[in-house]
Order: sequence, then C-alpha cells, then structure tokens
Amino acid sequence: MKPVLTIFIDGLKPESLPHMPFLNSLPHKRRLETILGYSITCHASMYTGVYPNKHKLWFLWQYSPATSPFRWLKKLPFLYPFNIIPAWLFLRKITLRYSKLTSYWKIPRILNLPLRYWPNIDVAEKKYWDEDGYIEGYPTIFEKLREHGIPYEIVGMVPGTIHTSRIIAEHTFDEIKPWTYLFVGDLDAISHHHGQDAPEVIEKLKELDSILERCYRDFEAKVGDFDCFVFSDHGHARLNEKIDLYQVFREAGDNLNRYMHLMDANVARFWFRNEKERARVEKVLSTLKNGYILTPEKMAHYHMDMPDTRYGELLYYLDLGSAFSRTIFGYGFRQQSIHGYVPDHPEVDGVFVSNRPIATEGKVRLVDILPSLLSQFELPIPDHVDGRSIWE
Ligand SMILES: [Zn+2]
Repeated sequence: MKPVLTIFIDGLKPESLPHMPFLNSLPHKRRLETILGYSITCHASMYTGVYPNKHKLWFLWQYSPATSPFRWLKKLPFLYPFNIIPAWLFLRKITLRYSKLTSYWKIPRILNLPLRYWPNIDVAEKKYWDEDGYIEGYPTIFEKLREHGIPYEIVGMVPGTIHTSRIIAEHTFDEIKPWTYLFVGDLDAISHHHGQDAPEVIEKLKELDSILERCYRDFEAKVGDFDCFVFSDHGHARLNEKIDLYQVFREAGDNLNRYMHLMDANVARFWFRNEKERARVEKVLSTLKNGYILTPEKMAHYHMDMPDTRYGELLYYLDLGSAFSRTIFGYGFRQQSIHGYVPDHPEVDGVFVSNRPIATEGKVRLVDILPSLLSQFELPIPDHVDGRSIWE
C-alpha cells in the first residue's frame, strides 16, 4: 500500500493545464464529468461516491418551513416590509449567531429574497464534509478511513477560507500519512471574477503549479514511491448574458416577488399556492431564450431526481453562457464566468491528472473519487456506491 497524495483544485478546467507545467507533466490525464449543480452537490458526490438522487444535496437553499433557521421571523411579521439590504444583512447575522451549523457555508448572506419568504427556507447542508454523519447512510471517504484506522492529513480545507493555496504553501510535511489531501479553493473564486483564461488567472495557475510541485518533490524526497492524483469538480464557462428575472417579470406586467422563489446563478426555482400561479410563472419564463424547465425526466437523466419538492416544484434552468444577475447570493456585478450547467457541455468538465495509469475508459466521474481511493487502500467498496475504481 503506497502513500497517496490527492490534490483537489476547485474549478480547474482541462484547458488550463498548459499553464501548469508541473501538473501537465504528470503522465495520465482525463477529463472529468461534473454533475448538474454547484459546489455543494459536487462535494457530496465526490466524498460519498453517490449521485445527488441518493445523497440529496443539490442546491444550498431548500424549501423547509419546519426547519428554517428564520422560523422566528414569523412572530415578527411587522418586519416583512423592510426589504432593504441593511435589514437583510442584519437579520441573517443575528440568525447566524444562534446557529449551531458546522457546514462549510453555514447560513450564507441572503439578498433579493423578500423577508416574508425567509421562514420557508433552510440550508440543505448541516455538517462539514469530514464530520461524522455528514450525510446519513452514505459514509464519506473521511469516515471510511477513520473506520478502518487509516491515518490521513488534510491541508487547506478550512471552513470559510477561500485562499487556501497560501495555507498549502506555508505547510511543512513532517511524517507522511497514508493519505494526504490538499484542498485548493482559490482558483474558483478568481475564475468567477475574470474567467479562467484571463491574464490574472493564468498568473494564479502558474503560482499554484509551483506550490504543488514543491509539495510533490517533498513527498518524493520523504517516501520515494507514492500515488498522486489531482482533480477538480467542474470547469468554468464565460458569461455572454446576464438576465435580471425580476425585471423580466416587471416587463411582462407581473412581479416575481408575488411567488415563492429562490434564485441561484442559473436556476430559478418556484413553489406555488395554486395552478394559476404556476401558469402565470410559466408564461413569463417562456419568453426567455437560452433555457428550459427541468422536467422530471431531465432530472432523472442527470441523477437529480428528488423524493419531494424541497428544491422546487418548478425549476427553470439557463443554459451555457447565460446566468441570472439578481440571485439570493447577490447582484452578479463581478461575475464573468460560472459553472452549474448540464454536464453535456465540455466547458464545465473538470480535470483528472495522475502519476498512475487509469484503467477505465472515457471521463472520470466525481462519484469515482471515493471508490478509487478505497481501492488504493485495499478497502471494500460499499454496494450503494455509484462510481467505480478507475485503477482496476
Ligand atoms: Zn464556483
């Protein structure tokens, strides 16, 4: 059993590898198939080896009045008219103060969503990736290694910290553990602001490459022979169009705030009080060009079929190159590039690079990460896992 060095780089595109001479020098390369959604769903799939229809983490926010951290606002309905940014920031801040969540995003800032809808929503992810019971019934790679007494070291995976390459750069490896996991979170953030092909991002890629090369050489000097693989969870696609759905509804003589809705970067989600509401919303959405409604068939095709409507009764998806400007996360002013498109688009492919030959054909998938690691430690792969070991 050789030591394994695994490096995760959030949002790295295969097309960016030529800017990373060291990573590019690793002999075995594949494209990686992402899943429909953002980081939250990608992380759950890569750490558990199952698709979202099993682990059920898809979007950050879900409809759940019974568990909403904002339930308390129901007792203070006189606050509902104060839909101004300072009120949104303040009410979220005091809610966060009383929250016991240990997840990466905890309770993020909420913008653009009228306060009267806040008591309907809850975050989907409650625990941190490496915690026991992160996802009930689907143990993560961290839990599996702990269960089998295999020591590991994680560097750079720090809640609420984006610039994790600095943590890796400053880290010294004393005793090499059977598994070392380096977590690089900064590339995704700057890629959103500039696009991954921008000069400032190419600079960052080069800097990252030399940090990772130093770690690799350190490993070589200390343990000699080891397996190393590097992977990302998705690519990045430049935006051609930002759509303000609130304005689209206004121009159609309607008001988006009449409906219980949640706006993500490229998916608008709705819950209705009656069929009339659904018809009105569908009518406005039908005027948009580059998108479509995610039907149950489409969701099943992408392994996103859910047992209930927690993520929406109607989900409208914007395709490659388009995004909503006003979302629950902000106004999208600085957003030049996003991900979260259907995995059919090669633009959102992630990357997989290894010093060990890959035995399987085609793209590596996020659900293959856990079984591939388990097989490297000669551990059994649970039957519920959707992926397979790529080394077999
Ligand atoms: Zn991102």
